Amino acid sequence: APGLYLVATPIGNLEDITLRALRVLREADRIACEDTRQTQKLLNHFGIKTPTVSYHMHNEGSRSEELTAALKAGARIAVVSDAGTPGIADPGSQIAAAAIAAGVPVFPIPGANAALAGLIASGLGTERFTFRGFLPSKAGARKTVLEDLPRDGSTQLFYETPHRILEALADVEAVFGGSEPVALARELTKLHEEFLRGRVAQVRAELAARASVRGEMVLMLAPEAASDAVKGSIAEEVAALIKSDGL
Ligand code: SAM
Repeated sequence: APGLYLVATPIGNLEDITLRALRVLREADRIACEDTRQTQKLLNHFGIKTPTVSYHMHNEGSRSEELTAALKAGARIAVVSDAGTPGIADPGSQIAAAAIAAGVPVFPIPGANAALAGLIASGLGTERFTFRGFLPSKAGARKTVLEDLPRDGSTQLFYETPHRILEALADVEAVFGGSEPVALARELTKLHEEFLRGRVAQVRAELAARASVRGEMVLMLAPEAASDAVKGSIAEEVAALIKSDGL
């Protein structure tokens, strides 16, 4: 059917492309790509010959108009990002909104997403969570974001880069204390997929001890009203009081 197809692609492991995604990409009139060269590798791998057009941060506005005109004329256009689900920390939402405003059908073609993949294997709560995209790169803004997080036990998900992760963990430690539980998912679905789970101080020490920190990563934490550190110290105080009273 004519319309806009938002197609999820793998975040590492090519087996994570869905059968439906392959069919949609094959049958589309055009594929709008964040980076045409990147997507061409995927298309070549699966023998898909659909023409591509660039659609990224810098031309999202003008391209949206152009693609919407084609959609109104009955085209089937697929949108993909470099990896994972378009529109999630990636281009895609602007064209979706433009298509909806123009009365064009919009179809999600679900698949890989780093945040959800990290979350479900994090060991943290999955009942309530908030995706917060990338943490700010500037220290001040990053601390403010962390300080403003709800302390209601809901899981908070961040995308982070390898060159900033140690600073980010140091800030988590400064705001929530070293015993705050965190999970770090690295290189999801890839050969060197790894989860670091534990207290933020331990996770930071483990990463800091490495010769280099690499790979794509998702950082997760679930701040509580009274952090474990506080609960722990209260328990210790109570124990000390009981002891001193000779109870
Ligand atoms: N649209 C993508 C999605 O659905 O997950 C996210 C794109 S965003 C520009 C890229 C960031 O996603 C990376 O910096 C990293 O934080 C996260 N990411 C992407 N692939 C990942 C992977 N295989 N393992 C861990 N994190 C990943």
